[in-house]
Amino acid sequence: MVVATQACSDWNALADQVLGGEEITREQALSILNSDDDELLSLLAATFRVRREHFGKQVQLYYLKNAKSGLCPEDCGYCSQAADSDAPIEKYAMLNEAKLLDGARQAAENNARTYCIVASGRGPSNREVTHVSNVVRKIKDEYGLHICCCLGLLSPEQATELKDAGVDRINHNLNTSRNFYDDICSTHSYDDRLDTLKTARDVGLELCAGLIVGMGEEYNDLIDVAFELKGLNVESIPVNFLNAIDGTRLEGKGDLAPQFCLKTLCMFRMVHPSTEIRVAGGREVNLRSMQAMSLYAANSLFVSDYLTTAGQTPQEDFRMVRDLGFEIVTGDAKVASLLNSSEQDMPASSCEKSGNCVSLPIADAP
Ligand code: SF4
Repeated sequence: MVVATQACSDWNALADQVLGGEEITREQALSILNSDDDELLSLLAATFRVRREHFGKQVQLYYLKNAKSGLCPEDCGYCSQAADSDAPIEKYAMLNEAKLLDGARQAAENNARTYCIVASGRGPSNREVTHVSNVVRKIKDEYGLHICCCLGLLSPEQATELKDAGVDRINHNLNTSRNFYDDICSTHSYDDRLDTLKTARDVGLELCAGLIVGMGEEYNDLIDVAFELKGLNVESIPVNFLNAIDGTRLEGKGDLAPQFCLKTLCMFRMVHPSTEIRVAGGREVNLRSMQAMSLYAANSLFVSDYLTTAGQTPQEDFRMVRDLGFEIVTGDAKVASLLNSSEQDMPASSCEKSGNCVSLPIADAP
C-alpha cells in the first residue's frame, strides 16, 4: 500500500467538522489511514462522537443464509465459491422453502433485525427470483424481519418482483475501487455492479454495498470506494476484511493489522457519518482481540457464521455488545421476545457471577 504524507491528527476537530455538516476531503480520509497507531485511541474517541450522534449506542445484527453455495461461473479472486476456487466448501443449489424459513427462524433467535438471503452465481434465474419472493412473503408474515437479498446481477423485472414481495434491501458490493477491480474479477465489471445497484434503486429498494479490505489495493482505492458509495447514497455499508481462504486466488494474502482495520472503519464513519456501517466478514480473523473496538466506529455486525466460514458464536457477540454497554436493535416484538428467552440460555460469565454486569437491553428500531 502507498503511504502518503498528509497529516491530520486533531481528530476532535475533524469530528467537529463532520458533526457540523461539512464533508471530509480525500486528504483528510487519507490522513486517517496513515495515522500513527499511537493516535488510535484518540481517533476512535473522535469517531465515536460521530457514530453516537447518529446511532447512539445501538447495534444492529444481521444474519446470513447461504441460500445457494458454490457452482459459480464467475472468478472473483477472494471468493471460495468462484469457478477457479479449490476451496473445500459445500456446494448446493437454491435451498427449498423450509430451509430458507428455518434460516429466518435462526435469524430471529439470534436477535438479528435483518435476514440476508445470499446466493452464489452471476445472477439469479427468473425461477430463483420467484422462489425467493414467495419465501420472503412468508418470512414477512411470520417474523417481520427486515430482508436483504444478495443474488448477483439483477434485471429491472427481477428487482421489481423482489420489491413487490417485500424485500427491503439489495446487497451488491463494489468490493474494491474501479481502478483495482480488474485485478480481482474478470468475468463481470465494476460497471455491471453499478448497474445492478442503480436497477435496485430505481425500483425503490434500499441499497447495501461495501468492500473487502486487504486484497492488495492501495489506500486510495479504499478512499475511492468510500466516496463512490457516498455518491450512491447507500443505506448500508458492509466493510469486510479479507479472510484469505485456502484454494482461492487470494490464498496467502491477508496481512491486515487490527489497528489498520479500525482506522479503515473510522475513515468510513467520517465519510459516512449517518450511514449504517457494518464490521463484516473477516472481523474475527483480522481484528482478533480488538473486535469490540470496531463498534466505536461501526454500528452493525453479522451474527453467527459467514457464507463459507465460521464466525464467533452469537453468545460471544451478545456478550461483546453488552460488555461495551451498547444495545441491540430489534425491529419486531416477536424477535424481542425470542431474545428475552435466548438470554436465559447464555452461560454466566465471571463478571456476571460477581454481579458487575447489567442485562442486555433491547432498543426499538428507529
Ligand atoms: S462473489 Fe458471487 S459472483 Fe463472485 S465468485 Fe463468489 S459467488 Fe460468484
